[in-house]
Amino acid sequence: MAVSEHSPPELARETLRTLAVRKLSPTPENYTAIFNELSGAPVVRDRALRALTAALASAGWLDDALRDDCVRQARAGDWERALRALIDAGRPGKDGGRARLLEQLAILIEHIQPALGDDDVQVLGDAARLAQECRALAAGEPLAGLNARLQEFNSRLAFVCEEQAEVRHSLLGMLRMVFQNIAACSLGDAWMEQQIALLVGACEPPLTLRRLDDLQRRIKDLAFKQGELKRATETAQDESRQLFSTFVVQLAGMAELSQARTESLAVTAAGLLDCEDLPQARSLLQGAQTDLHDMAARTGAMSEELQGMHARMAESEAELGRLRRELEALSLANRHDALTGALNRKGLDEALVREVARARRVDSPLSIALLDIDNFKVINDQHGHPTGDAALAHLADMARAVLRAHDTLCRYGGEEFVILLPDTTLDDGVNAIRKLQRALTRELFMADSRRIVITFSAGVAMLSPDEDPLAAIERADRGMYQAKRNGKNRVVVA
Ligand code: GH3
Ligand code: MG
Ligand code: MG
Repeated sequence: MAVSEHSPPELARETLRTLAVRKLSPTPENYTAIFNELSGAPVVRDRALRALTAALASAGWLDDALRDDCVRQARAGDWERALRALIDAGRPGKDGGRARLLEQLAILIEHIQPALGDDDVQVLGDAARLAQECRALAAGEPLAGLNARLQEFNSRLAFVCEEQAEVRHSLLGMLRMVFQNIAACSLGDAWMEQQIALLVGACEPPLTLRRLDDLQRRIKDLAFKQGELKRATETAQDESRQLFSTFVVQLAGMAELSQARTESLAVTAAGLLDCEDLPQARSLLQGAQTDLHDMAARTGAMSEELQGMHARMAESEAELGRLRRELEALSLANRHDALTGALNRKGLDEALVREVARARRVDSPLSIALLDIDNFKVINDQHGHPTGDAALAHLADMARAVLRAHDTLCRYGGEEFVILLPDTTLDDGVNAIRKLQRALTRELFMADSRRIVITFSAGVAMLSPDEDPLAAIERADRGMYQAKRNGKNRVVVA
């Protein structure tokens, strides 16, 4: 017969006997535990309670502390208290779970707002009200009303998001059209066509801030060089126009002069035919000689002037040719960023192929660091954009001075740099970047005799055997963001 089938007085006796056999002191807790054990039923309850609390915890209704509390009560045999703890846990407002959820919902709605743009005023107002309502509901009121409004907001949100995506898509399409139109007007200029192809490629989705930044810099470069070329072309055209008009005036003068001289020579010739004495003939011939001499002098001066004009036009042409070649070099061969002398993105792509192949061939570690200058906006705002530019150049100079000759520095974005560190383990990579940090605090950047401290945050990743190098750069990027979150001016292993 199972012990649990004893009557309660028999169970009580058996409990006391078991306490004595196990040499346990007869405290109420020990008595209850043994009684429950012998009766068998609480064991089943205990299991059921455990299963129930585990299920509620995994569904997110109970946190770990509350679940442990329930289990503790059940173990102690206090089924009633365990159940009470469970019910309390589910009561609104008791554990703060509901309040936390509503707060997260409010934060989520607020974070969505900037992505909605300013076009739909109503949805922005709805979002603000809904976030406020979520917070106000924390005290335990029913959620039915909020649920209905959330549903309404969600369908409106879906509509606005779709519209935003459409707007972005169509803006990009327009940008592409603008670029293609410029290409059509470039009249077979190879450099322009190549630039336009790059720009069209750069405005393909997905757009990231980095790609936009890159795009912006390309357009800036393009506009600057185009402006330079346009100014030089206009100057050359003005000069040619001026030269031509001078030439035409001179030619007209020359024609008038030669006509007058020709007439005078004809008169001289007629005079010679009629001439009867030698002195008269000599004087006529002297006049003819002066005319011819005058004409020769004017022709000589004119020829010299023409030569000068020719030389000046050749100079203008050479200047235009130089600018055109510079433009070509800018796109075709240029792997360097003009401001810092570091590699540009094209240069980095090539360096990555080379370094990754080498690292794999000789089985040597390749570390990659990504640096982002801290609070660079403040440097620009307080000291001006040109000083910001000089600060970027200073950082690049310091990097070249501190790093090894075969490390590769690349300007990755506006104020972001990627450094490839061949034959470098993760630890050594971190040390190299810290060395650069120390150098920057030692050699302060001077702008108009003011000292400016440049610091940066960095992530360092070591390329894994089969990893895409771009994935390693992304890891370094995440490390850099972690360094920013940890307080900036530090290096994080990614
Ligand atoms: P954080 O520490 O979080 O990186 O702050 P931050 O101010 O550096 O970062 P944020 O990315 O907000 O700002 C970067 C700024 O760098 C904005 C942009 O105007 C500036 N910038 C980008 N390229 C250049 C450049 O070529 N020259 C100058 N002077 N400024 C640039
Ligand atoms: Mg940045
Ligand atoms: Mg920055």
